Formats: sequence, structure tokens, C-alpha cells
Amino acid sequence: MLDINKIRSEFPILSREVNKKPLIYFDNGATAQKPSCVIEAENHYYRFQNANIHRGVHRLSQDITLAYENARITIQKHLNAKYAHEILFTKGTTDSINLVASSFSRRFLKKGDEVIISFMEHHSNILPWQNLRDEIGIVLKVIPINNAGELLIDEFDKLLNSKTKLVSVTQISNTLGTINPVKEIISKAHQVGAKVLIDGAQSVPHMAVDVQDLNADFFVFSGHKLFGPTGVGVLYGKEEILNDMPPYQYGGGIIKTVTFDKTEYAGLPLKFEAGTPHISGGIGLAAAIDYVNAVGLDKISQYEHDLQVHATDQLNTIEGIKIIGNASNKASVISFVANGIHPMDIGTLLDQQGIAVRTGHHCTQPLMQFYDIPGTVRASFAFYNTKQEIDYFVTALNKALKMLN
Ligand code: PMP
Repeated sequence: MLDINKIRSEFPILSREVNKKPLIYFDNGATAQKPSCVIEAENHYYRFQNANIHRGVHRLSQDITLAYENARITIQKHLNAKYAHEILFTKGTTDSINLVASSFSRRFLKKGDEVIISFMEHHSNILPWQNLRDEIGIVLKVIPINNAGELLIDEFDKLLNSKTKLVSVTQISNTLGTINPVKEIISKAHQVGAKVLIDGAQSVPHMAVDVQDLNADFFVFSGHKLFGPTGVGVLYGKEEILNDMPPYQYGGGIIKTVTFDKTEYAGLPLKFEAGTPHISGGIGLAAAIDYVNAVGLDKISQYEHDLQVHATDQLNTIEGIKIIGNASNKASVISFVANGIHPMDIGTLLDQQGIAVRTGHHCTQPLMQFYDIPGTVRASFAFYNTKQEIDYFVTALNKALKMLN
């Protein structure tokens, strides 16, 4: 069991009010709140540790270089990557996917090669590949879904062939909450020699991930959804693939030697980390991971599953509410529509009751087209949310629907 009162007391923002009501934060899919230890880690860096990494012989620089590299090791262990140098710091999920699209494509993709994504991808996992289709002529294929919001794996089988070079899919849909069978997808893709990128933006905050067990070639996520700082994220890549890929950005920190004629690049991970990184972000992200591990991801998954089931049951009692995304394997994300009422109107009335939900297309417009809806209201839970909050939300929603009907 989680000690919810203790956990909630560790997230300062949860004690504030919004519109004179206690804040109920159900927008964790967009970004998660930060525990004091993360805020403190960033604060401590700027107060006592600030220096640039990998550059100085002086004490501050050496200490912070060590702390930053220790943060990398914390992430490595968290994902069970084989080597720390397989963990690259990026700005976030979007940046990580763009890194792969840019660098992997320059080394491994040519006109006619095929990349497979799925119907439920975030725009961040659509646009980089669409751009490669337009720029170099790769073929972009899309795994379809059923009405419940589950991938049609039989159709995926039909899309795979010897021209498939990369499969890039999300582990959990930010709109539908579907948990995809990524281990099976990876295994099938490998049978035709394709590499696989897993978008873990919505999975790492809610479940344990083992990249070696999954056998993922790339795994990406954002710090800010994992209770860490904004502006920092991770790209895990297998050593042998990253070694074969060219730098993404060029500049200081990625070299062994430079002359005006020629540059020899550094090895991993520096080859992909040009310029001064978000040092406090890396430190804060490691603090967030330590925090989540101290709470226990297995306990978190179980607790959030109970929240999801409770909320689904409650929402199903409200006439006119339709839940979008009913996968049998589902995370703590619930999207819904209410007959004829615009999601934004519901969101605005809920906000007046202190409840933060997300409304709109959630950067998944193809899904909105599939379900023929303008958008949804999305409640996404974290382990600091409670059943009482859900009950309050359901009462507030009922009130809002009465006003809008
Ligand atoms: N992929 C998924 C599944 C997401 O939920 C998000 C954020 N909503 C992203 C990618 C993009 O993440 P970021 O904005 O942190 O780069």
C-alpha cells in the first residue's frame, strides 16, 4: 500500500488552491508535478554546484561532471541498459525522436525504405518520419487500430517486409491509455531485420521498463512526465547502432581533435551531446528516478490501475459520457466525450472547480479523425491522486453537464 498522505505532502503544489478550491491535478499525461527532492536538487545545483561539465580542472567543474555522469548511471540502471554510454541526454521525447530520425536516416535510410508507425502515435512520432518521407522518399506505413483503441497486430504482420528498416511505436497511448505489446512488436520487427524505437513518454512514469528484456533498439522519454524537470529527456540506444550513427548536432564537446581540414569525433555518449546541456535538469531527473524507485513502481502501477478502474466505473454511470479507448490492457489515462458538448466547455467548468484536465486532440489528430470527434476531455492520473479526488471530479462533471445540456 502507498502512504498517500505522506506522498502528497512531498509535492508542494498539491496543497495550493485553484479558483478557491483545492487543486485536483488530473493532467499528468501533459506533465507531472515535482516532489520537493527534485525541486531541491535543482535548487542545490544553482546554489552550490553551478559550473560547466566536462571542461574544467577546477573543483566545481569536476564535482558537477561526476554528479552529471552519476545521473546518467541512475538512468542506465533504471532502464536496465547495458552501458551508461547508451544513455544520451536530450531535451525530451520530441528531441530524442528527432535525433534518431535525423541521424539514423542519414546512415541507414534511403528512398524506398520503409518506416512503420502506428495510428495512435503522438505528433512527435509522426512528423519526423513524415518529413523523411517528403525529403528522402522513405515509405511511411501505419499500423491500424480497432474501435477499442488496440493495435491490429495481424495487420502489423502484413506491413513488415525486408524493406522495413525501422518501427517506431508508443508503449502507452497518451490519448487512449492503451498499453501496447511492444515486446512482441520488437520481436516481430527484428525477424525482418528492422530496428525498433519505443516512445516511452507515457510509460516510464507508470511502469518498470527493462530495455534489454524488451530488446528495444531505441527507447525515448521526457523527464518532466516522470516527475522531473522540463527540458531534459533521454534517448537510450544500443551501443552498436549509436556507434554507427553520425552526430545529430555539431559543436563543442563532441570531438577528440579538430583542425580546419578534419574533425575526429568523441565516442559515446559525447558524440551526441553537443553544447552545454541542461545540467540541473539531468541532476533533477536522477532525483526523480530515485524518488519513484523509493515509492516503488510496482506499487505505483497497481495503485494507478485501481484509480483507472474506479474512474472508469464512475464515468460509465453518467449518461451521455462515452469513453474513447477501451483497450483490455490500459494505463491510468481516460479520454471521454459527452454527447454534443465541446470538450473545452467541460474543461473550463471543471477548472472553475479546481480540477485540471486536458481538452483537445492531445497531439493525436489522426486518432480524432478515426473516432470522428473534435477532441476529448482527458483525465490522466498519477500515484498522488486519490479515489476521493475522482469522486469529487465526477460530481463536478455531473454539475458541468447539467449546466451545458
Ligand atoms: N510521445 C508521447 C506518447 C507523449 O505523450 C508526448 C507528450 N504528450 C510526447 C511524445 C512529446 O513529449 P515532449 O513534449 O516532452 O517532447
